[in-house]
Amino acid sequence: MKGSTHLTIGTAIGIGAAAVYSHSLTQAALLITAASFSALAADLDGASLLSSKLSKVSRVIRILAPWAGVLAVVALVLYGTRNGFAPLPSAAAVALLLLGLTAKEGAIRNALVSAIGCALLYAAWMGDSRGLLGLGAFVVIAPWLKHRGLTHTIWALALWAAIGRQLEAEWAIPGLAAASAAGYLSHLAADTLTPSGVKWLSPLVKKSFKLR
Ligand SMILES: [Zn+2]
Repeated sequence: MKGSTHLTIGTAIGIGAAAVYSHSLTQAALLITAASFSALAADLDGASLLSSKLSKVSRVIRILAPWAGVLAVVALVLYGTRNGFAPLPSAAAVALLLLGLTAKEGAIRNALVSAIGCALLYAAWMGDSRGLLGLGAFVVIAPWLKHRGLTHTIWALALWAAIGRQLEAEWAIPGLAAASAAGYLSHLAADTLTPSGVKWLSPLVKKSFKLR
């Protein structure tokens, strides 16, 4: 399943969550970002989202997306060192860079994703946040896993839901847990519709589930 499809579904889920839970524009933007990011997070594993049948558009996105993320982080660092790091723009810039990196593949990309995970672990340690600790660990490990392996299972979904619940409690953002879990679930459901399917219960059950 293409990254853009996952992203579209995730955004739609985020808008739905925002309609149900949010009372402010900031909260709505956060829920939409969380759901969109969650809908792509499973493909932080070792494969490119856009690798199959590259159209001209996806080739351009593939080149531009990581650079957009790099620019966002550079802008954040330039602005943040002068004015202090606000949590919201920082989270948005890091999320954008990670999203950009899902469009790439290879060892350098994997190392970059893991490096971002390490930065999250550092932030978790500084801020004493168990939610960020879980998210950081996920981002560090995911790129080195086989494509459509462990990140595409109900165990990963349960872990993601737990991280969302923890962050919802820590950051006091109602709907964050629901938006993240629904976003992640949508990814696995969408991949189940593709010919190779999803090994939902791997490694317990090796069978690939697909709807054809
Ligand atoms: Zn996938």
